[in-house]
Amino acid sequence: TNINTNELIEKTEKYGANNYHPLPIVISRAEGVWVEDPEGNKYMDMLSAYSAVNQGHRHPKIIQALKDQADKVTLTSRAFHNDQLGIWYEKVCQLANKEMVLPMNTGAEAVETAVKAARRWSYDVKGIAEDQAEIIACIGNFHGRTMTAVSLSSDAEYKRGFGPMLPGIKLIPYGDLEALQAAITPNTAAFLIEPIQGEAGIVIPPKGFIKAAFDACKENNVLFIADEIQAGLARTGKMFACEWEGIEPDMYILGKALGGGVFPISCVVANRDVLGVFNPGSHGSTFGGNPMACAVSIASLDVLADEKLADKSLELGEYFISKLTEIKNPLIKEVRGRGLFIGVELTEDARKYCEQLKDYGLLCKETHDTVIRFAPPLVITKEELDWAIERINKVLG
Ligand code: PLP
Repeated sequence: TNINTNELIEKTEKYGANNYHPLPIVISRAEGVWVEDPEGNKYMDMLSAYSAVNQGHRHPKIIQALKDQADKVTLTSRAFHNDQLGIWYEKVCQLANKEMVLPMNTGAEAVETAVKAARRWSYDVKGIAEDQAEIIACIGNFHGRTMTAVSLSSDAEYKRGFGPMLPGIKLIPYGDLEALQAAITPNTAAFLIEPIQGEAGIVIPPKGFIKAAFDACKENNVLFIADEIQAGLARTGKMFACEWEGIEPDMYILGKALGGGVFPISCVVANRDVLGVFNPGSHGSTFGGNPMACAVSIASLDVLADEKLADKSLELGEYFISKLTEIKNPLIKEVRGRGLFIGVELTEDARKYCEQLKDYGLLCKETHDTVIRFAPPLVITKEELDWAIERINKVLG
């Protein structure tokens, strides 16, 4: 079947719930940093599926792991053990320097899991009275689209028409230590934070905030939970974005690149004193921890380490930011980022510029109206980056 771009978009818009607003491009093939439409036009992917393809599209080692596992067993149900799960557990725990891990599938499910773990910990370990637990989160956060995640959100449009929301949530301005200290009560179970806010537009907290917030949590026996679903796994030039302030959170929430953009897998990683609160029957997922996801994730984590993608992101990110900063245009309000996790904030809507960049062969997406996010797969080469910079200069220069 040779269906062209316009026909495919027409079908998609005719039958699909209207919950996305994509650029008018259809991707039918991809490799590394490049994607292709049905007509054979090539584009560079500067979004990386919101950091899920940090390892590049269809990394050969990850695809091989997928194929090998597909020939053996794909799903067992957690009523039985499978031969990939334990190996994957060990690998993730060693990576995060934690004792225990709980696998789910999507990022939002891992956030649900973290909130459930924190609440139960607060009752069983901290000793908060039943149903009194509070979670503190940050204004501008993005933790997903489930009811817990939208209850955590400060964005009215994420919540409109979906009430009633989950109780027991407090919001503070992102990066405001005094507000955090004021929000903590004896009933606070956890502080949940993205170490860099991705969907909010690559927002980096003031220097020292993450460390100070962590210390404040420790002083008050409050769990510090880092949602590293988008910022983690080498994206910011470190394996975990929390490393930028030298802290190890009580709980990591991981997703996206954990499956190399090939298979959905997410997880919560923490020590036994926290994740030990789960017992059989208290939580789970049909697909959580399935051998296909585990095999793909093992290969995905190997690629991050073997190809030193964190170091590469750091080095190329500095280069990219310096080149973007050189562009003289009053339209550019700010260039900010860590590693290849970069936001260019404009003084007006960014969509028009994303459409122009697309015409030059560069796929980007505006986030929160005025920010263009540049987050290519971390396997990008310096030459490919120069190719992109040339085109960005044509549009923004
Ligand atoms: N948390 C963060 C920080 C995210 O960036 C995202 C997705 O963009 C999520 C959670 C939700 O992940 P998923 O879309 O896999 O449910």
